[in-house]
Amino acid sequence: MVYFIGAGPGDPELLTVKGKRLIETADVIIYAGSLVNPQVLSGAKPEAEIYDSAGMTLDEVIAVMQKAEEKGLMTARVHTGDPSVYGAHREQMVRLDKLGISYEVVPGVSSFQAAAASLKREYTLPGVSQTVILTRMAGRTPMPEREQIEELAAHQATMVIFLSVGEMETLCSRLKAGGYPSDTPVAVVYKASWEDEKIVTGTLETIGEKVDQAGIKKTALVTVGRFLGDAFELSKLYDAQFSHGYRQAKPEA
Ligand code: SAH
Repeated sequence: MVYFIGAGPGDPELLTVKGKRLIETADVIIYAGSLVNPQVLSGAKPEAEIYDSAGMTLDEVIAVMQKAEEKGLMTARVHTGDPSVYGAHREQMVRLDKLGISYEVVPGVSSFQAAAASLKREYTLPGVSQTVILTRMAGRTPMPEREQIEELAAHQATMVIFLSVGEMETLCSRLKAGGYPSDTPVAVVYKASWEDEKIVTGTLETIGEKVDQAGIKKTALVTVGRFLGDAFELSKLYDAQFSHGYRQAKPEA
């Protein structure tokens, strides 16, 4: 059996109870050493075989899983954040299907959620934005034509941009070209929930230089939109004048 486990954004206490239990009972652990906090593995059995996938190919990862399976051992495949976002676990699942090896996926806290927590902000503010776009700029992985940054920026929704902090100037000019005004607030969160977390805030005009000065080149999210500001409407959910399935409106005072 193979468990794909979301290790969370960094803080080992943000690992789920289920993920922790599975790591503690795994015979073989394969983790993405470039981003997973090694402290997440601190509860592993002393005899567990531990592999860092950073230097491994897909074939090598699958070979380790297959060998474990033949011996009747349990494998924990530990991904950063939640595996469903840039986790590259789908290709592993396809290979396991072909080999007839069963697996389960245990979700984790994604870095985009940890970033909102660190910023003490809500991505979906009434009257501001009710949509969150998770995306990236093209790197070595190309972007589909219809998902170019300019196209996505046209909505002026909340945007959380992964894997792109190394090219802030290009990113900001493309966001502006797509329609965000240049005074749109931007917050960059480096290593959200880690001890050396850093937050840099500015606007599409100023953030590039600030991020450069802070020396941030990777492991950061770029969050963009008016959700970072203070102007928004109160929610209907807790509005005294508004009834819903769980509560009747209070008469106006
Ligand atoms: N599956 C992961 C994302 C993997 S892609 C998740 O759910 O978070 C790797 C990118 O995620 C990094 O380049 C960076 O943009 C972002 N990232 C991962 N962990 C982060 C963290 N703790 N703080 C800020 N960004 C992070």
